[in-house]
Amino acid sequence: MRNLLIAGNWKMNHTAAATETFCRELRARGLEGKRPDILLCPPFTSIGTMVSLLKGSPVHVGGQNLHQQDKGAFTGEISAAMLREAGCSHVLIGHSERRQYFHEDDAGVNAKTRKALENGLTPVICIGETREEREKGVTNAVIKTQLSGALAGFAVGEIRKMLIAYEPVWAIGTGLTATPEQAQEVHRYIRKLLSEIAGAETAQLLRILYGGSAKPDNAAELLSEADIDGLLIGGASLKAEDFFRIIEIADTINK
Ligand code: PEP
Repeated sequence: MRNLLIAGNWKMNHTAAATETFCRELRARGLEGKRPDILLCPPFTSIGTMVSLLKGSPVHVGGQNLHQQDKGAFTGEISAAMLREAGCSHVLIGHSERRQYFHEDDAGVNAKTRKALENGLTPVICIGETREEREKGVTNAVIKTQLSGALAGFAVGEIRKMLIAYEPVWAIGTGLTATPEQAQEVHRYIRKLLSEIAGAETAQLLRILYGGSAKPDNAAELLSEADIDGLLIGGASLKAEDFFRIIEIADTINK
């Protein structure tokens, strides 16, 4: 079965000093023996601190973005090899804020995903519709375009190494969560698309995370849905207490 994954996306929050405080508190709460897989994606400047302070714990560390080239004149960018060397095992790709503010498109997401896999990083591919798209009734069409664009040209064996995050843009950082039913409906559709793209067996193996104002108060009902295999959490991952609480909740879910 698909083990739940609780992931945090810190965005541009927490200095290395704040990261140290967070990591010490999270460890002190006791992560050992918790069943969900755990991932945290801090800013680049905090990766080293997090990797060293959470060494030996079950927490995986990921980047929030990478560049699709190996190296070169790309001021301000970071490569997959650099993330690996810093201790990352995962990387977020195509987060809606990257799409909105940095004009990332599906072709770029595809190229970044290839680079991540070539370097042994697990890509967490983020997809989701805007509020306008949902109101226009084109959510499924948007999801299909984004998912098929991201996965174009990959072999089934490569797709099996990926994670998908469904993040309705209207629910990110707004306090508006998709209802568990709304989220489940899209997750079920994503799994159907995955089945068409990579076969039923792969679709059953792949984990699809939900993201969008997830927090301790709504984690249990979201995680109880059949096709929701974890959470990608922004705001509520910034405090060790809240993030740990969600891990504890995930630990109690049986499905
Ligand atoms: C995110 O940025 O991936 C996210 C889901 O943010 P929030 O939980 O704050 O809505």
